[in-house]
Amino acid sequence: MAQQYKCPMCGATFGSQSELEEHSKKEHAKEMQKKSQSEMRSQ
Ligand SMILES: [Zn+2]
Repeated sequence: MAQQYKCPMCGATFGSQSELEEHSKKEHAKEMQKKSQSEMRSQ
C-alpha cells in the first residue's frame, strides 16, 4: 500500500516525496544547473 516516488532521471524509488526531492537536489543538481547554464551560454 505504501506509495513509491520514482526519480524520473535515474529510476530510484523513495518512500516519500521529500526523500525524492532531496535525492534530486543532491544527485541531479548538476543536470538541473546544466539546463539554466546552457540558456545563459546561448548568447
Ligand atoms: Zn535520481
